[in-house]
Order: sequence, then structure tokens, then C-alpha cells
Amino acid sequence: MKRSSIALAGLLCGAVASAQVPATLQPFVKVDAPVVVLENVRVIDGTGAPAQENQMIVLEHGKITSVGPQTGDQLMPTGAKMIDLAGKTVFPGLVGMHEHLFYPLPDGGPGLLRLYGEMADSAPRLYLAGGVTTARTAGSLEPYTDISVKQAIDAGQIPGPKLFLTGPYLEGSPALGPQLHTLTGPDDAARLVDYWAAEGMTSFKAYTHITPEELKAAVDHAHEHGLKITGHLCAVGFKEAAGLGIDNLEHGLVVDTEFYSQKKTGVCPGQRPAQAELAKMDVEGPEIQGTIRFLIDHHVAVTSTLAIFESFAPNRPPMSEEMRVRTSLLPDAWGSYATTRAAIAERAQDQPSESISGRLLKMEERFELDFVMRGGVLMAGCDPTGYGGVLPGFGDQRNLELLVESGFSPEAAIHIATQNGAQWLGEDAQLGTIAVGKAADLVVVDGNPAKNIADVEKVETVFKDGVGYDPQKLIASVRGLVGLR
Ligand SMILES: [Zn+2]
Repeated sequence: MKRSSIALAGLLCGAVASAQVPATLQPFVKVDAPVVVLENVRVIDGTGAPAQENQMIVLEHGKITSVGPQTGDQLMPTGAKMIDLAGKTVFPGLVGMHEHLFYPLPDGGPGLLRLYGEMADSAPRLYLAGGVTTARTAGSLEPYTDISVKQAIDAGQIPGPKLFLTGPYLEGSPALGPQLHTLTGPDDAARLVDYWAAEGMTSFKAYTHITPEELKAAVDHAHEHGLKITGHLCAVGFKEAAGLGIDNLEHGLVVDTEFYSQKKTGVCPGQRPAQAELAKMDVEGPEIQGTIRFLIDHHVAVTSTLAIFESFAPNRPPMSEEMRVRTSLLPDAWGSYATTRAAIAERAQDQPSESISGRLLKMEERFELDFVMRGGVLMAGCDPTGYGGVLPGFGDQRNLELLVESGFSPEAAIHIATQNGAQWLGEDAQLGTIAVGKAADLVVVDGNPAKNIADVEKVETVFKDGVGYDPQKLIASVRGLVGLR
């Protein structure tokens, strides 16, 4: 590449050929140039290293080709688009590891089934707007829609993150809801893994009622295909799952049933009784610390989903956090969320002893901090489920804030939500940090998340493969649609 001085590059700015972006994406794009230079910017690089002030990053044809201190006499690529980011911060595009393309449909009333709707339009746009440039779905309800959405994103037909798809839930009996297949045994688990691997799914998720025998078959078949498997488990405890070879556990301590006094092998005792006992335990005690050690020794990663747990604690998150998602929600979906939120707060006021969700959230935060301090790999995702209110993108940002509330530094929280996921996916040569040779997947925010983590909400531009998307335009394009489509 021909190089010229920085002054010359400045003169040429604006005369750069653009239109590397398909017409369908152009309404959402604010930076579209083959070569982009981000100047005077604070960098949090995703490795966990402290934020660096006054840096310069060069993006060429979708890749990062230079990153380092701004010295003022650097040679610039000819015709680069220069963007002065003084006062702003850049961190890697988030690698969301517990994402879904569905969302709970508004409560239909007594006697009606609990259903989730596929948010094929709103979810991909909100993930990208929130800075999630890579998303692993953690369980699918409409697998063929998920595959079509991924193909449309990859073909540049619709905006969205790089998707790594997980097959339909591998759920035992009784299945949690009517949209899930019920496994009939280990052979059935093996058959489904083989089938969905052939359809292009790149990971699997075991669910609450899967038996140890079914989980073993699923793990073995996933590994035979060179693929990984995670789980939100209940009938199988964490140590047992680690012993069976699972690669990842979702949600962390508060869903682990192995400490429950009435636990029977291969049977889910239900979340409530197990959590009532768990809430009386000490995270620093030998049992839970033993599980942490066992998971680390068996190379099992944990995915943090603090944002969804928080929604079950009374009056959390603060209403200001929720007002920013309100306009994204279908009015009925907002109403359904607000009603349940109020009921949780009321119950806590009437019977404070019955409300253990606040304590469980604190225990989970402590568990995640300990797990990482002892050498465990923690990842993060938003899990837009529960009774609603946790939305794609917004929920991922909230999870970063809750990791900092747990005791992680902002840089460590961003590392958890970027590089760790990229490594688990085997994509760390391309994704997860700001380094030369990697994809130009970057989030530009106003302010300084290293000082105030809430600044991760002030997204100005999200670069995916060097193309800068406007989060406000993405959000506006699906206003009022979450909960509908
Ligand atoms: Zn989930």
C-alpha cells in the first residue's frame, strides 16, 4: 500500500471511494470506507490490560492493521478516512455467549401456554446496536429460522452479528415447554446431535431435565463432530456434568442442584427447593470452593448471565435501566414485564424472608469472581428470557455493569465478554481483542468505561469487519417490535 504523510491523508479525506456495503445495509451505516483511522482514542483492548490513552487504530479492508500510541508523525494509508475520537473509548466487539433470537411472548392469561417468539427482525439489530458483533446462541427454538437469519446476515442482506448457532435444546422429560423436543433416551440424544451437526449447528446445549445417560451420549457425539456442548442443567449436577465431559455451564452456581439435600441421581428437584438451601450456603465454604476447583481442573467454562438473574431480584435493575428498553418493546410486552416486576417487588415487601433472589444474585457474583481468581474461564451473555425486560444488546451491556458490581475491573469485565468467548469458539485468531490482523470488530463509546462502566451504554458506532454501524438507526428500525417479531 502506498503511504503518504498524515497531512496529505487529511487532505484526501472525503475523496475516498465508498460503497463496500450492500445497498440493503446502507441505511444503518455511518462509516463506509476501505481505510479508516481512529485517532486520539482510549483503547481497552480486550486482553484485560489497563485502558491506554491517546491511541491510534488503522482499519484496512475490514481488518485491524495497526494499533498503538498516537505520535503525530505516523504515516497514514493514502486516502484514509480519519475519525477523531478524543474523549471516546474503543473496545472489541462483544462476543455474547448466551444469546437467543427469541423472547418471551406477552403473558396470554390463565390456561394459555408459555411461548417464546422468534425475534428474527429485532434481535440481530439490537445485538449489533448494543456492540455485540459475535453471538453464540445458547439454545434454539426455531433452528431453521436461526440458520436462515445467519445466512442472511452473512450475505449482507440484513444487519446483525456474526452468529455461532447452537442446535435445539437437548431436553429430557418433562420438557420445560411445548416448543422443546423431549428426549426419549441416549440414542435419541445422539441422533439429534448428529442431525443438527449435519444441518450446520456449531454447538449444542443440554437442558434442565436431560439425564446423565443422555448427556453422556450428547457430549460424545458433539465431540466426535469436533463441536462443543454447554448446558443449563438441573437433573445433572455441575461436577457430574464436568466428569461427563461438558465444555461449558450456563448461568453458574445458582442453577447447580448438586448441593441439595434431597437430590436424586438424574432427577431435577425443581429450582426453588434447591435454591432455598443453596441460599443458606457460604460461597467461600469447602463445598462450593470444591466445585470451583473441579470445574477448573476439567476445563469447563462458565457463562455469566447476571442480567437475567438481576431481573428476579426486587426493584432491580433500577427503573432508569428499563426505560431505555421500553421503546424497543411491543406495548403488551412492556405491560407484561412491568406487571411481573411489580409483583416481585410487592412479594418481597410482604414476605421479606421469602425473597432470596437478591441473596442468590450476590452469591452468584461472588462465585464468578472466585471462579476467575482461581483460574476459571468466565464468559458472558444476556439471555433474553425469564419474564422479559432483558433485551438483546442492552442486556449484554448490563451484564458488564454487573460484572463490575461483582468486583471485576472494567477491563476484566470487557475481557470476559470479548476474548474469553472468542477463545472458547476457537475464533481468537480473528476475534475478541484489538490487535493487528484481527477483524475490525470494534465498539466506540462516548466517555470512559474504565472509570465508569455504565459508559458502555453510550455506543456511538459499532464496527463489524470495518463497516461502522449507527446504533440509533438500528434501534429505531425495530422500535416497538421486541415481543412481536
Ligand atoms: Zn438461555
